Amino acid sequence: MNSSPKRRLFVTTALPYANGPFHIGHIMEYIQADTWVRFQRMGGHEVHFVGADDAHGAPIMIAAEKAGKTPQQFVADIAAGRRQYLDGFHIRFDNWHNTDGAENHQLAQDVYRALRKSGLIAMRDIEQFYDPVKGMFLPDRYIKGQCPKCGAADQYGDACEVCGAVYAPTELKNPYSTLSGATPELRKSEHYFFQLSSDRCADFLREWTQASNAHGQPHLQTEVLNKVREWFAVDENGHGGLADWDISRDAPYFGIEIPDAPGKYFYVWLDAPVGYLASLKNHFDKGQAAAHWHAASRTAQSYDTFMADPTVEQVHFIGKDIVYFHTLFWPAMLKFSGRKTPSQINVHGFVTVGGEKMSKSRGTGISPLKYLDIGLNPEWLRYYLVAKLSSRVEDVDFTPEDFIARVNSDLIGKYVNIASRAAKFISQQFDGRLGYFGTTQEITDAAQALAGDVAAAFEAREYARALREVMAYADRINTAFDAAQPWLLAKDETRRAELQGACSRALAGFWLLSVVLSPVLPALTARVARELFGLERDFVWADTAVLPQRVAPYQHLMQRIDPKLLDKLFEADAPAAAPAAAATNGKTMPPAAAPSAIAAAAQDAAISIDDFGKVDLRIARIVHAEAVEGSTKLLRLTLDAGETGDDGQPRTRTVFSGISSAYKPEDLRGRLTVMVANLAPRKMKFGLSEGMVLAASAADERAEPGLYLLEPHAGAQPGMRVR
Ligand SMILES: [Zn+2]
Repeated sequence: MNSSPKRRLFVTTALPYANGPFHIGHIMEYIQADTWVRFQRMGGHEVHFVGADDAHGAPIMIAAEKAGKTPQQFVADIAAGRRQYLDGFHIRFDNWHNTDGAENHQLAQDVYRALRKSGLIAMRDIEQFYDPVKGMFLPDRYIKGQCPKCGAADQYGDACEVCGAVYAPTELKNPYSTLSGATPELRKSEHYFFQLSSDRCADFLREWTQASNAHGQPHLQTEVLNKVREWFAVDENGHGGLADWDISRDAPYFGIEIPDAPGKYFYVWLDAPVGYLASLKNHFDKGQAAAHWHAASRTAQSYDTFMADPTVEQVHFIGKDIVYFHTLFWPAMLKFSGRKTPSQINVHGFVTVGGEKMSKSRGTGISPLKYLDIGLNPEWLRYYLVAKLSSRVEDVDFTPEDFIARVNSDLIGKYVNIASRAAKFISQQFDGRLGYFGTTQEITDAAQALAGDVAAAFEAREYARALREVMAYADRINTAFDAAQPWLLAKDETRRAELQGACSRALAGFWLLSVVLSPVLPALTARVARELFGLERDFVWADTAVLPQRVAPYQHLMQRIDPKLLDKLFEADAPAAAPAAAATNGKTMPPAAAPSAIAAAAQDAAISIDDFGKVDLRIARIVHAEAVEGSTKLLRLTLDAGETGDDGQPRTRTVFSGISSAYKPEDLRGRLTVMVANLAPRKMKFGLSEGMVLAASAADERAEPGLYLLEPHAGAQPGMRVR
């Protein structure tokens, strides 16, 4: 299965958008790919495993502007934080680059020129919303308004979150720009399109998506192919089917300039996958070709010669949310620019926690850095996720109870314990020498059978199956060891050979399990190889055919999980500040009822600076304000506090504020104020209120009416902390 001839592999994971740190979904994908890559390397295959930050696009341009940085600096600061995650979880990329690198500018423009030469680029005028205040065309996500179908307020330009309707931003009623609050204008602009709907593209893709690679593996998983078939389908009215792809954006845009088209940039999704090639080229150019594989003979090779080798396999690991780009646009771009097309697109599902899709804003999910910081072992998570991954596009659910059970009873109880139980007798009574006595044929036969099954499962990304086989084998070893009753044999001088045999067979099993678990537990098994068995290298797959001859005294290998650590992992980082004073006067206050809160706080006992620090106050821009039907007190405010949602897109908050008596909605739009950002969200009759804004008022509002919203001095930007 995993033997010669030597394969040449180019492996990638999806490029993370460089506007925020990694979340657990990224880490799962990297662990899935890293496990596969380590398995291939153990078989002696040549693997180049690269990643990169996806640096371009409007969200990064806007986030950088808000942070007062250039986009380049903004992306560099994000990139500087990547290593601690990758090293922390033993994820070993050969290279990590970014899509704003010189290689990507060159390669993306080369791909485009070749597509143009193939006659697959068209130009068309389109009408698009333009923000006259910001002086830019607005991506759909930066336009909000009323849903054209159900009339719900504050819906994004592409889809309604209330009724689920999908529409063009130009269909929104009362649209406004979330960047400036201005009413956008329709303007014409010339855009460039990749003609995906052409017969040439459609014919190629129909064939490619159903075909298999040189190793007989299909390019796409069955479920993915079924989804792709839906995209090809045309109904009886002629609707559906592949559509041409708009690949250009107008300046200002952070991206790569389109050749011979001043003021036009590639849409970020054109140059992002080209970033795979750019990172590989950067890797070769840096002369690191031989850094992580065994054949030292093939040191200096160029990107061009490597990619020209028809036997090189190009393997992408991606999430289910970006299938369209990777199964249609990407292979077609490669094919018609005269390049190698992917050998395999491996799609995985999302990570859910307790069955729920994770969400930072709802406080669920697992922070990978926090996981490491509080001292949870990274290989526990590797083991757990691998034990749940299959080749299907299924979500992987994390529950604390299941996590503790799998690690403590399987990983420690079944696997690690073999070594601690058996090695003790061998080092104390046999000076570390193993002795098998009699034929070892049945040990090596069983080992080869397991190694073959596990290799086939790893190759096919059937990781859960692989670990089930491994744990079943561990069960057999433990059962045989218990049946031999070594603790009784140890008391009988005449049965020393039996004792040595029973312990040696258990340790041969432990050796085998360690070899096949190496792709999953690289740090632990590296210690086993060196400290317990005295190898001066990591395990390779061929070690599955070897019987160990010596063992060193057992040293502690791995701890059980303390459930308290998991409680810590799920503790909220910044507990929402309790609006302690809000109800002191007995009135039910809307979230914006800060006046009484502040007044009451002033009358209360002194608080410490730490108490104050619990309140996360932020500058926010009121991008939209409107009356709330059915309420005379409330205004519905849409606030931009410079935040990013789980999807990497800018996120605004809805806050209901009892200031309708003092302000007209149109007077507030575009103004800055102060928001309490970590107030627990509150379900109100009119919707969810996600914070509150601060306003001043007299101690006795009846005698002296008047509400005054706080506004910062000029220069403050949304997202700045108030302290
Ligand atoms: Zn709607």
